Amino acid sequence: MSRIRALFWDPAGERYGIPTYPWKMAPPHLLTLRQLTAGGLRPGGQGVQAQVLWRSRRYRTRGGVRAAYLYDVRFALPKRTPTTAQCAALAKANAARRTCPVCERDVGYVLPRHLGTCLDCAEAVAAAA
Ligand SMILES: [Zn+2]
Repeated sequence: MSRIRALFWDPAGERYGIPTYPWKMAPPHLLTLRQLTAGGLRPGGQGVQAQVLWRSRRYRTRGGVRAAYLYDVRFALPKRTPTTAQCAALAKANAARRTCPVCERDVGYVLPRHLGTCLDCAEAVAAAA
């Protein structure tokens, strides 16, 4: 085991507080959120069970050490499918985000919050000023 791998090898969580594994060395029952989602699962109320730590040259924050949080597939539950009422509510909320309060059109994109209006209305205000 290389020095870096040994540094991140802590299955009992004595050094990091939670069980910690180096890259690609986590046991197969511990999955990331994305892996759970790909399998049609959700964490189901469980907290983070373990983490994978690895060194990255791309991300310099925290000394270039990145973390991926893992959940136990044994506590995971199947993903819930939204009801038609929930889908309708979401569609309504998203429509409201796309509707300009000035010209009252659905402009087809989410309004920028710093403008509060559609781009056409913002441009008209900027031109008038
Ligand atoms: Zn507008």
